[in-house]
Amino acid sequence: MQIDKHSIVTLHYTLKDSDGNVIDESSDGSFCYLHGENNIIPGLENALAGRISGDELSVSVPPKEGYGEHDAERTQAVPRDMFPPEHEIEAGMQFQAEGPEGQALLVTVVKVEDDSVTVDGNHPLAGVQLNFEVKIIDVRTASEEEIEHGHVHGPDGHHH
Ligand code: ZN
Repeated sequence: MQIDKHSIVTLHYTLKDSDGNVIDESSDGSFCYLHGENNIIPGLENALAGRISGDELSVSVPPKEGYGEHDAERTQAVPRDMFPPEHEIEAGMQFQAEGPEGQALLVTVVKVEDDSVTVDGNHPLAGVQLNFEVKIIDVRTASEEEIEHGHVHGPDGHHH
């Protein structure tokens, strides 16, 4: 069957940046998603629509159809004493912070100075061209419960 709204799709994929570095991969059949509910980035979801089990494709997704452009305004310096003094803070570390509307926000440390730490609230893949090699392993119709919940249920998906 073809991938359409409310298909459950199982994929193998390799994701690389434009320098050929592997960012993420799944090749054990554990990655599946409910199509048509924005559960994966739009650029990949759109490329998969209408495909069938067994199809292999290469998809290059620009930032605006992936995790967005890098927004310099989301980078800011905060006082070093906002972090626990007993912890060594290094560039590349990630922390859970609170966004302007109280939402959970993942921030990445980009620079550490004596009395300030520069953090970046952009998604770690913001501004990155995403190059996927995808093989479609399985396509099935979602159950009513999965459609209602907006996600895949086990054995390899979401568990309650
Ligand atoms: Zn559920």
